[in-house]
Amino acid sequence: MRYLPIFFDTQEKTIVVIGGGPAAEAKLRTLIRVDGELLVFTKGPSDQIKRWANEGKLTIVQETPEKEDFKLASLIYAATEDPAENAGLADKAKDLGIPVNAADQKEDCSFITPAIVDRDPIVVAIGSEGTAPGLARSLKADIESRLPQSTGPLARKIAELRASLSAIMPDFSDRQRLWAKVFSSGKTLEKRLAHTPEEIEATFESALKEEFKEKAGSVSLVGAGPGDIELLTLGAQRRLHSADVIVYDRLVSQGVLDLGRREAKYIYVGKAPGNHSTRQGEINRIIVEKALEGNHVVRLKGGDPLIFGRADEEIEALEQAGVDYDIVPGITSAAAAAATIGKSLTSRGHNKSVTLMTGHDSKGFAEQDWKKLSDPTARAAIYMGLGASRFIQGRLLLHGADRNHPVTIVENASRADEKVVETTLGNLAQDIEKYGILGPAILLYGYAKTEAVAAEFLPRKAVK
Ligand code: SAH
Repeated sequence: MRYLPIFFDTQEKTIVVIGGGPAAEAKLRTLIRVDGELLVFTKGPSDQIKRWANEGKLTIVQETPEKEDFKLASLIYAATEDPAENAGLADKAKDLGIPVNAADQKEDCSFITPAIVDRDPIVVAIGSEGTAPGLARSLKADIESRLPQSTGPLARKIAELRASLSAIMPDFSDRQRLWAKVFSSGKTLEKRLAHTPEEIEATFESALKEEFKEKAGSVSLVGAGPGDIELLTLGAQRRLHSADVIVYDRLVSQGVLDLGRREAKYIYVGKAPGNHSTRQGEINRIIVEKALEGNHVVRLKGGDPLIFGRADEEIEALEQAGVDYDIVPGITSAAAAAATIGKSLTSRGHNKSVTLMTGHDSKGFAEQDWKKLSDPTARAAIYMGLGASRFIQGRLLLHGADRNHPVTIVENASRADEKVVETTLGNLAQDIEKYGILGPAILLYGYAKTEAVAAEFLPRKAVK
């Protein structure tokens, strides 16, 4: 490429054109559109040039230009009808170091002018370095027909939008990505440019909204499992690695927390037993607030978030605040406890159902279908059952349950300090005390690790 295409700023510049005939007129047809001041040196201006002068588009100077006149110019067009005169003028300009174009005399030019398609401020310049003007003209005609007149207003609207964008999106590459999105809305050039300024504004605003939505915070309600990190899902790990804020409670093990992103902010929201309702409101507030600040919040809950985890209250708060969320299930402690004792929660030929029940609810000790649970084949995994053990025992015995109905207590299921105690319904409360079970523990009602019903302390079995 011998000629470098550039866009020259003509504002507050003087452009000198020498000549008053068809050659000068041809150059002026483009030049009258630029901002710079036009001085046309000619003793015989054409009618058209006179008209332009009358319209204030140029000034005619009826003299031969002197050196001083040349020095005023930022660009010079030697466009008389005499090639020898043009060559002489061009030499003079070059001596003074001023860029010069000699009409139709490529070798005398220091710059040549392209064919242009003008949709100001969008301008397409087509050059052939003088090799194939016909081809350049046909390209110009093609582009003329394809660039709608609205391209100019469209570009001006974009300039306006760009100004507002840099204030809210300081990062250059973010802005570039956004514009790429805006202009990818049509498949063909025609479709993309057929936007009116109003349409481009709407497309821009929806792209912007989406962009900020991506940036807007979100909450993942993540099951942290019963404690052993081996029991964490890949989804949970992935979210922990990208979290900005990790909100966790008492039942989440240190091993799981250690997998969280180092730079994340860790917020402990351990609920004090018996003081649930006020704390829950506070937790809802924290996760909503942190998400609205633009953070990816991981709300870690022991076991599975949807089992006795009050997740629905958090979900409701998130929905009310319009915060995006997702839920990552986890291994519930009853499943881990069953794995520990090597018993299937549902055994073919024994129990067709298993009850996941809680010892406590919002009103205190939780009432259940005691009659059903007193059946000899009944099985249940009891969460939060330690404090309610005497109540549960009493209710079941009252409804005719067998004192020898087996119960296996699994404390700290899957953790290093896991403890298993096999007992019976009749001895449940006293064995909890006897073996110093402080929790968290699952009471596996109707399950025995061995056939023996005598209480027995079993050493921890490693979870594989
Ligand atoms: N969402 C949790 C349950 C929360 S309720 C889950 O799916 O496991 C809290 C109760 O869960 C505790 O009182 C205890 O009964 C039980 N629990 C939680 N982690 C436990 C663990 N590692 N071992 C035994 N029980 C556990």
